[in-house]
Amino acid sequence: MVWRNWARTASADPELVARPVDDAEVAALVRWAAARGTRVRAVGAGHSFTDCAATDGVLLSLDAIDRIEHVGPATPGGSCEVRVGAGIRLGRLCAELAARGLALENMGDIDQQSIAGAISTGTHGTGAAFGGFAAQVRALRLVTADGEIVETSATQHPDLFELARLGLGTAGVITAVTLSTVRAFELEAYEAPLPLGDVLESLLDDDGLVRSHDHVEFYWWPHTDLAHTKINDRRSAGGHRLNRARRLVDDELLANGGLTLTTELCSMLGALTPVVNNVAARALTERRYRAPSHEVFTSPRRVRFREMEYAIPPTSVVPVLAEIDTWLRRTGENVPFPIEVRFAAADDIWLSTAHRRETAYVAVHQARRLPFARYFRAVEAMMAEHQGRPHWGKLHRLGADDLRDRYPRFGDALRVRDAVDPGRVFANAYTTRVFGP
Ligand SMILES: Cc1cc2nc3c(=O)[nH]c(=O)nc-3n(C[C@H](O)[C@H](O)[C@H](O)COP(=O)(O)OP(=O)(O)OC[C@H]3O[C@@H](n4cnc5c(N)ncnc54)[C@H](O)[C@@H]3O)c2cc1C
Repeated sequence: MVWRNWARTASADPELVARPVDDAEVAALVRWAAARGTRVRAVGAGHSFTDCAATDGVLLSLDAIDRIEHVGPATPGGSCEVRVGAGIRLGRLCAELAARGLALENMGDIDQQSIAGAISTGTHGTGAAFGGFAAQVRALRLVTADGEIVETSATQHPDLFELARLGLGTAGVITAVTLSTVRAFELEAYEAPLPLGDVLESLLDDDGLVRSHDHVEFYWWPHTDLAHTKINDRRSAGGHRLNRARRLVDDELLANGGLTLTTELCSMLGALTPVVNNVAARALTERRYRAPSHEVFTSPRRVRFREMEYAIPPTSVVPVLAEIDTWLRRTGENVPFPIEVRFAAADDIWLSTAHRRETAYVAVHQARRLPFARYFRAVEAMMAEHQGRPHWGKLHRLGADDLRDRYPRFGDALRVRDAVDPGRVFANAYTTRVFGP
């Protein structure tokens, strides 16, 4: 596997960038490009760490296709199907849903992505009983390689739906997404720096952290035995509110400002990293608050970093963290960024990192000015021993041959791709690497 696979490729320089305003324009652009033998990629917010949206052909930004198209009737349980334009950013989507008394069931840790980008890479949050964004999709409208506008769902072109709802845009350009949303709710958050040993001790027990709370994640600071732990439990809307001033101080000054400062310091003076990490891990002190779900799930991220994330069986978390710890102690690698651990329910989506297995996500980060390849390569080798599946939008070095063994329905995804895009209108260097030519 070659070194350059870590980096964005030089082909991120498109021949044409277009901003279509509706499906008809998307279809016309796809037909025009296909007729000239030019490749097409859609881009969302461009927040992936890989070159998955890059192209030297036509780049379609769907920023202008961002309306709430339809809000269906609510069920007695309060869930409701909502159809949105594929380019809508998650932040605006949440605001629009909140105004209608609705919310997304689960989210990741930022709200900057587009809905189509988030589902196409398998973006996820945390919660052992909850799936990622693609699991919340009920139907999609997309423009296929021959320029047709097609409606897909579990009952309409179900195979195409599978590849479209999580397939890096290889099925076509998604123009609308129907999401299953839930009645608006609040999250009661408890955050604290805890001894890593205490967090890991009963992690997966029936009455342990992960199963007795709705959304659990923790950030282990390398070179320390501390884990900043975030536990969120679902509550019906209408309770007491977040102390916004306190959250602003914690998120902006301590999390973003503090992390910028510590990573810059450690980038210059690596010997300080263990001490700095110990201070940083303790700086975010215990806090409890309650707020609308999207305000708790997400927070601003202003620090630049590189990230690799692997999905592994939850029982592998303890051995994997021990292996990473041993490696860091042995090599003395300078890592001033925490390692994030999250959880998700198994799902049935062909290319989901949580396909047919309960899942834990372990994400390693590195400061943008520090070397990352040796660290990520070592962790990637450990993940291989645990049947790890890399996040499709984050750094990794695997190719189709490695991935085939890790996804039971990989062959089905390739079969659908061959059928709907035999000329590879929607291919780029990244999809060629991970799915083959
Ligand atoms: C600070 C930060 C925090 C993050 N946090 C999380 C997290 O908590 N959880 C997590 O799982 N990931 C996380 N990620 C990764 C991120 O969610 C994914 O990489 C996501 O895909 C980015 O969305 P985007 O809109 O920027 O998509 P892009 O990066 O623009 O595109 C992603 C893929 O989707 C395709 N695509 C985009 N739009 C369309 C369309 N309309 N039709 C067809 N294909 C399309 C692109 O071609 C590309 O292959 C984070 C990334 C950053 C930078």
